[in-house]
Amino acid sequence: MSKTRIYEVAKELGMNSKELMEFLEKELNISVKSHMSTIEEETVQAIKDLIEEERQAKKEVKKQKEPPKEKKKTPEKIKVKEKLEEEPVEEKPVREVTITTQEITLDILAKRLELEQNDIIKDMFMKGIVLRPGQKLDKTMAEDISMSYNVILNFEIEKEEAEEKEEDVEVILAKKWNDIYEKEKDKLAPRPPVVTIMGHVDHGKTTLLDKIRNTHVADKEEGGITQSIGAYQIEYNDQKITFIDTPGHEAFTEMRARGAQVTDIVVLIIAADDGVMPQTIEAYNHAKSANVPIIVAINKIDKPNANIELTKQQMVSKLNLIPEDWGGNTITIPISAKTGKGIDELLEMIILVAEMQEIRCIPEGKARAVIIESRVDKAMGPLGTVIVKDGILKVGDDFISGSTYGRVRRMINDRGESLKRAVPSTPVQVLGFNDVPNTHSIMYVVDSKEEARALAEKIKEKEEEKSKGPAKRHMRLEDIMQK
Ligand code: GDP
Ligand code: MG
Repeated sequence: MSKTRIYEVAKELGMNSKELMEFLEKELNISVKSHMSTIEEETVQAIKDLIEEERQAKKEVKKQKEPPKEKKKTPEKIKVKEKLEEEPVEEKPVREVTITTQEITLDILAKRLELEQNDIIKDMFMKGIVLRPGQKLDKTMAEDISMSYNVILNFEIEKEEAEEKEEDVEVILAKKWNDIYEKEKDKLAPRPPVVTIMGHVDHGKTTLLDKIRNTHVADKEEGGITQSIGAYQIEYNDQKITFIDTPGHEAFTEMRARGAQVTDIVVLIIAADDGVMPQTIEAYNHAKSANVPIIVAINKIDKPNANIELTKQQMVSKLNLIPEDWGGNTITIPISAKTGKGIDELLEMIILVAEMQEIRCIPEGKARAVIIESRVDKAMGPLGTVIVKDGILKVGDDFISGSTYGRVRRMINDRGESLKRAVPSTPVQVLGFNDVPNTHSIMYVVDSKEEARALAEKIKEKEEEKSKGPAKRHMRLEDIMQK
């Protein structure tokens, strides 16, 4: 073994980890992140030598009755070393305490440290850290608190996390679906692409979404009232395309974390009079890390100061995207969301990319859907807009969605029509949730109401465990102020 953990070295030297870390920083200019960090054997030896030297020197000094101040050291250095000298192993032992990762709340930590929770709160307050009783702590925080009481905190991580995952209903369900995809490859069927338009603020996302919708949906039905449900579906050349209306960057990360990605294609919109801007880059990065194909729409080409060439140059220099007509492979379409120019070409390209991507689903059976929007309606209660990913969602289906559950009482599409069945890639507003579902959570249809309730409760328990009680999770500013 050529490496040793800081706390082990500290123990050997009769210091606590914090002192050792300070010592390393000051004397050897080594900065160490945590007491779990490792250092080289060589360094350990150097530290030992240095400390021994210091101890010897100090003895000499004492013999000669010279005040330590006269040593050519900075006051801080002396302080650290005096401490080392004055507090040898026996007097200040480092304790080790084990805690499981699920357990890290302030009350439990206090018990482990054999301290009063309130004393910790007071002590930390003096250091400028505000803590609440029973507060959930992250590992670093728990470690820091423990360290200030000279206790090394050991986390029982692997076993606990493994168990946690095994029990996690949502993880099990996500895996089950992945398995179906693996096993029934031959039964997979194409479904319409789900498209998200992303880009810098004011570059024209809303205008483009409205334009596409107005040109391809509203006039189809006589007196049809379009409903804003967070997504809509159009038909272009007999091909369906679903557009998501309210995308957030977090949607990419969150949905992926839950085992489903709602977006199949990203249209990255860049205003030709403004070029590549910070949020353009951000949006691009999200799409890229989600591995979603990107079509660039250069917007506002009707404007006199539009500069398509410059915008393309910036695509290359800032995003490393080379437009097709420049010999690259990024489909780039100049459009005007205002006049409608180029939009048909954009839709054609979306369909083309969708075909190349082979966007597939499990076409039948129980549905799985993604919640893209949710709210409470005064008259209708909790509402969630979902996009069906697999299977067929039907009225009467029992489902869970995170810790919420319910039975589909009604489904309303983006044209305000009631549906009995919703096939993959259809956006529908669902009535029948017991509570407002979390946006970006996955809805799974299950066998019965009992099963739904049981699963949802299991998930809820887990969530509450994680956040230590529902009351705290929903604590508002007023609640805190009253304390
Ligand atoms: P968003 O923030 O990306 O949703 O941008 P908006 O759609 O709200 O558009 C911002 C502004 O740009 C609005 O005043 C739009 O009218 C205008 N705009 C959007 N697209 C175009 C376009 O193609 N041409 C022109 N001239 N103006 C546009
Ligand atoms: Mg907008």
